[in-house]
Amino acid sequence: MRYVGGHVSISGGLPYAIDNTVKIGGNCLQIFAGSPRLWFRKPFTDVEVREFLSGIEENRFGPVFIHALYLVNLASSNIGLLEKSTTSLVADIQNGARIHSTGVIIHIGSHLGAGFDSVKDQLVAVIQRILGETQDCDLILENTAGQNGKIGSLPELAHLLKKVNDPRLKICLDTAHLFAAGVDLRSLSAIKELVQELKDLKLLDRLVCLHLNDCTSELNSHRDLHANIGEGKIGLEGLKLFINRKELIHLPLILEVPGENKQGPNLANITLAKGLV
Ligand SMILES: [Zn+2]
Ligand SMILES: [Zn+2]
Repeated sequence: MRYVGGHVSISGGLPYAIDNTVKIGGNCLQIFAGSPRLWFRKPFTDVEVREFLSGIEENRFGPVFIHALYLVNLASSNIGLLEKSTTSLVADIQNGARIHSTGVIIHIGSHLGAGFDSVKDQLVAVIQRILGETQDCDLILENTAGQNGKIGSLPELAHLLKKVNDPRLKICLDTAHLFAAGVDLRSLSAIKELVQELKDLKLLDRLVCLHLNDCTSELNSHRDLHANIGEGKIGLEGLKLFINRKELIHLPLILEVPGENKQGPNLANITLAKGLV
């Protein structure tokens, strides 16, 4: 059985993520461990952790992922922003450990045109610091759509994994980001090439999650626009081809699609996704 779920809200409290996942027909999930647009983080209460964990067990849900704040930028030259990014990630990982989350997924950030080479040493140091201050829950780097300045191409991820050299540093690949970055997921040969690249870069064994999103923007457009499953440029056949590749078939699928009226992943999307596996 494949784990398929979506990003769900914890509005009202952490245990609401369970109901929200049941409602959309998911069997795994992703949440924000606080507001995605505010730096403020507080520990989950013991009561909500207990209720959440018993909900996970009762429903036999698979992995729980936490998505970090969108404000995080580990490549920032602004000391204050870098410090806030680091502190929020440590808090998210600590909260993650308490709810037995697989890991906290982050968009690494932007070098604002300065180039990856000018920030890579800072990234290695800050990631090592975050991992050093935490335990029991991993840090998961997500690939980007290749927007100008945004860090997260496969060679960049490979560089960071190698230099940080910590087994708790993992990878998440987003199908919409891959497509916008130029990987044509509609083509079997392009998928095979991608898998080979993942092997060559030693990323394949570190891959723990796929973000399953269709893509509104064109191939190689470098624009990060998620579409509902089957409603974007990748389409059902492309997504199906990719997620069922033998090297990827064990990976949980997390949808971050707009759903209806931008309410997020819904039953219709999860049902379509389950039909692909
Ligand atoms: Zn994503
Ligand atoms: Zn995205």
